[in-house]
Amino acid sequence: MKYHDSHADSRAKMQSAIQLLDTHNLTYTPVNYSVAYEYVSGENPELIQLIDDYINVNKVDAFVLESLYNEFIVNKTPQDESNVYKLNGAIDSLHTSCETSSEVLQALDESVQSTVDEHSTETQRLVVELKQSQAEMMAFVKEAQLQAHTIRNELESAKIEAITDPLTQLLNRQALNKMFDSYRSDSGDNELSAAMVDIDYFKKFNDDYGHLIGDVILRRIAKLFRDVIDTSGEVFRYGGEEFVILIPNIEPSEAYRILDDIRTRVEKLRFVSAKTKERLPKLTISAGVTQYVYGEPLESLISRADEALYQAKRQGRNRIIDLALQD
Ligand code: GH3
Ligand code: MG
Ligand code: MG
Repeated sequence: MKYHDSHADSRAKMQSAIQLLDTHNLTYTPVNYSVAYEYVSGENPELIQLIDDYINVNKVDAFVLESLYNEFIVNKTPQDESNVYKLNGAIDSLHTSCETSSEVLQALDESVQSTVDEHSTETQRLVVELKQSQAEMMAFVKEAQLQAHTIRNELESAKIEAITDPLTQLLNRQALNKMFDSYRSDSGDNELSAAMVDIDYFKKFNDDYGHLIGDVILRRIAKLFRDVIDTSGEVFRYGGEEFVILIPNIEPSEAYRILDDIRTRVEKLRFVSAKTKERLPKLTISAGVTQYVYGEPLESLISRADEALYQAKRQGRNRIIDLALQD
């Protein structure tokens, strides 16, 4: 069970959670409430830090809470994940034992068949019985193998789901943390460009056309990012309408060119409302690009990319600022 609060404690937390939602003009939906309850419970420092950051820049809204809900409440915790790995290991050994017993049984079957003619009726009867239990055991082993296979596939899907953003099908922030950690430990001093990309004036677009159309646009733009980046790097949905793109082994000028190509392609996208057939206004993106400094943590890389993005916004949006090209 996730929470073990007493009746009185949970009442106090409920009041604080509701107060938090009221302060930010958020409705008491189950998603918003769950995140608020988790926040006031005070046991999840990473979630608290993120919400505080959003509060500080006055950007805590239902979209932010939904993505935090998916990341921190629905998805697997690291503890769950390590259990998944342990279970996977156990299934692997079960699988191997199944295969070994199946080989042993097969060998026994063959040796019984070759000796059966030389023995008395009583031995033959025993052999028939043995073969029967052998067959039952084989069936059991096969069934166990089948089950192990199904469970393993389910675990693989659960692992993929845990690192995938449900709206855009891009990798989520949890995946970014993991991939960055493995990049940092394996990469030596290879070049890595990181971009923080943000849709311009997306709040107004949502306000004018509704969040359902907003969601369609997010999916379309995410697909464009994925198609352009293809196998040259990775695209992550970092938050609501913010994306992180990592491109390894690339010169800063080339990273800038790719981001600017994405920018012009987004500008050229045309959207028409399926309901009203109305042509929707064009959307643009801004991005901040920076180079990974060997050994630095993800937070410092992201905050530099964010600073560059902020400059792009300040300079009028629909542009790319690459810190590496500014020196
Ligand atoms: P800026 O050019 O400065 O980035 O302005 P902005 O309006 O894009 O920025 P702001 O951060 O104020 O608003 C982001 C908006 O993105 C808030 C919310 O309406 C929208 N948004 C965030 N996540 C989602 C989502 O999952 N679906 C939809 N439809 N909209 C989202
Ligand atoms: Mg924006
Ligand atoms: Mg934003």
